[in-house]
Amino acid sequence: MAAGGHGFDGVERRGLMFVLSSPSGAGKTTLSRMLVAETPALKMSVSATTRPKRPGEVDGKDYFFVDQKRFDAMVNNGELLEWANVFDNRYGTPRAPVEAALAAGQDVLFDIDWQGTQQLRSRSPNDVVSVFILPPSVTALEQRLHTRAQDSDDVIRGRMRKAGDEMSHFDAYDYIIVNDNIGIAFEAVKSILRAEQLKRERQVGLSGFVRELQRQLEK
Ligand code: 5GP
Repeated sequence: MAAGGHGFDGVERRGLMFVLSSPSGAGKTTLSRMLVAETPALKMSVSATTRPKRPGEVDGKDYFFVDQKRFDAMVNNGELLEWANVFDNRYGTPRAPVEAALAAGQDVLFDIDWQGTQQLRSRSPNDVVSVFILPPSVTALEQRLHTRAQDSDDVIRGRMRKAGDEMSHFDAYDYIIVNDNIGIAFEAVKSILRAEQLKRERQVGLSGFVRELQRQLEK
């Protein structure tokens, strides 16, 4: 059975790095969770962060919550694949789990910002597929941030201000989804992932497979 592929003997697939980015409140976290729930073979990258844990978040599941000293050590030891300052805190992607998953032909999902996406892309230009989620309106963005009710009004105001900056990086992404309806946005995300998995260059051993089909046809 091909690793993470479609199961044709001899055809395997290189794992891809599937990045979802958006301003906070555009629905990216919801979409990531839906995608992971429906695609068991997709591995979610769990980031390390220096930001305080929000109510309901679980260490090791939502993030690895670390202090500044530990984060610096991870940076200095080369333990992070990428890292960035976002909203005055640091966030980074632990390298080892990602490399292990990709080596096993598994796809990895990243919920990271545009700075991290750029770093991943410059390291692995052929393996990164990036999707940027936009809110349909400022009102919708504000409503989602308030409904989430996890951050103080000050933090929400700060995030609204920064949303404009974050959006300005949409043009560095492969795909753009305006999240007007979560069900439709989810279908779009799934379609992108599926199409990218089937790209010829991601399937290893195709020529051998086709030769074998031809050999059997000639019998
Ligand atoms: P939050 O604090 O709301 O969980 O995340 C804030 C922002 O940090 C989001 O835009 C999220 O995508 C980004 N982020 C989370 N983890 C990482 C990471 O490992 N690297 C980078 N570059 N950004 C991250």
